[in-house]
Amino acid sequence: AVTAPVLEIRGLTTHYGRIQALHGIDLEVREGELVALVGGNGAGKTTLLMTLSGIRPASAGTIRFHGEDITRVPAERRTLMGISQVPEGRQVFGPMSVEDNLLLGAYKRDRDAAWEDLDRMYEMFPILRQKRREAAGTLSGGQQQMLAMARALMRKPRLLLLDEPSMGLAPLLVEEILNAVSELKRQGMTIFLVEQNANAALAIADRGYVIETGNIVLSDTGRALLENEKIKEAYLGI
Ligand code: ATP
Repeated sequence: AVTAPVLEIRGLTTHYGRIQALHGIDLEVREGELVALVGGNGAGKTTLLMTLSGIRPASAGTIRFHGEDITRVPAERRTLMGISQVPEGRQVFGPMSVEDNLLLGAYKRDRDAAWEDLDRMYEMFPILRQKRREAAGTLSGGQQQMLAMARALMRKPRLLLLDEPSMGLAPLLVEEILNAVSELKRQGMTIFLVEQNANAALAIADRGYVIETGNIVLSDTGRALLENEKIKEAYLGI
């Protein structure tokens, strides 16, 4: 069934000074969908995410969130509207405990509700419960990725943006993280997943977009893209 669009991007263009990094991106994510954006180094994946979350200004085009034009809405306001980004490189607060990192994600929200959410996160990521009193900086890379995701989820987002969650992780952990992303989708979360690991991302995505030098060059179901000969050659190393 086709659901309502959560995110609608039309003709989105972003510059770094005179360098144009995005050339009129069209893309959408619907309610409950897991959509992957894949592409090589320097293709524009991070730039697109930063433009979505409001960290980089768009130089042309529109971004709509639940039908509302948010192209000029400041980043903090977008977060409050329900767009939650898990940044590349995770960026947890190393000296703080795992639990305090999570509670920080729930800031400005009702305390009882925050404790309930904490419990939900510990159910989803049991290792975080086990390590809840330990400094976040002592966690492994995969555990820090789980913490960063759980912290974003503490805000009860309506759209989760994931920037290369598998980056720098061993294959077994990549699988574990992407299983967690799939599980979130099963629970109804709407997810936009940006990955260099095209194989892993397309395997769990409902739909995927391929970005090259700031342009969307292909879009299809995750399965169809996985089987696409051009994609296999360019991104899957087959
Ligand atoms: P990666 O997977 O390596 O992070 P990416 O797909 O996320 O790559 P971007 O980081 O979005 O790619 O970069 C897109 C283009 O914009 C590249 O050509 C890059 O050189 C350029 N770019 C990125 N950041 C800046 C910046 N701060 N100043 C100038 N150009 C930049």
